[in-house]
Amino acid sequence: MAGARLCIPRQIVAELQDYEAQYGANDSTYWLYFELLWREYFQWLHYRYGNRLYLLRGIRNQDPLLSKNPKALAGWCEGKTAAPFVNAFMHQLRNTGWMSNRGRQIVASYLINQLGVDWRDGAAWFEAQLIDYDPASNWGNWQYLTGVGTDPRGRREFNIGKQQREYDPAGAFVGKYSHRHAQRTS
Ligand SMILES: Cc1cc2nc3c(=O)[nH]c(=O)nc-3n(C[C@H](O)[C@H](O)[C@H](O)COP(=O)(O)OP(=O)(O)OC[C@H]3O[C@@H](n4cnc5c(N)ncnc54)[C@H](O)[C@@H]3O)c2cc1C
Repeated sequence: MAGARLCIPRQIVAELQDYEAQYGANDSTYWLYFELLWREYFQWLHYRYGNRLYLLRGIRNQDPLLSKNPKALAGWCEGKTAAPFVNAFMHQLRNTGWMSNRGRQIVASYLINQLGVDWRDGAAWFEAQLIDYDPASNWGNWQYLTGVGTDPRGRREFNIGKQQREYDPAGAFVGKYSHRHAQRTS
């Protein structure tokens, strides 16, 4: 892309600080900085723990009590679960190669907690689909949600119904991605 350049986080933060000095801080500048810290965290975590980021028992060496279940995994990948909100996110991923951070957390929680599937299968599916795939962020976030990463609070479980009521109250997102090819054919 003409004019595009690769930025490292320090450069982004420097630009952010310049912007804030000129126009003032706002919610968006705060969150951008905050989220970049998460990114940094996972990059350093990978640097520190190396291959342990890819192990079932994770960095904490915890047994996540998950199993191989090819049928449940396939349904999740194809957006054919019992949860329309999860399905919409999975269709979005297949159609566009992208999903919001909230969506990633919701579908990961569903795979781990509702379907009881080995978290590494979900991480591998994300690896194959995401256009912004990054080893440290992907596998680090999956470990974090499964409760085998460094977070002492353990596994994260999202209430899918509550999430849907909060983030898609009118069902616009589910409507848009209710079918795997909805985006392409509309
Ligand atoms: C299960 C799971 C898998 C993920 N896999 C990846 C991946 O492969 N590649 C990737 O770049 N990000 C990954 N993320 C992090 C995050 O979802 C994306 O970076 C985010 O969706 C990008 O959206 P945005 O650019 O609008 O970010 P914003 O929310 O505007 O945040 C700004 C920047 O902060 C960073 N960031 C935000 N949230 C996170 C987070 N939770 N972890 C790490 N960095 C973060 C990203 O660089 C992002 O571009 C994953 C998150 C989860 C929960």
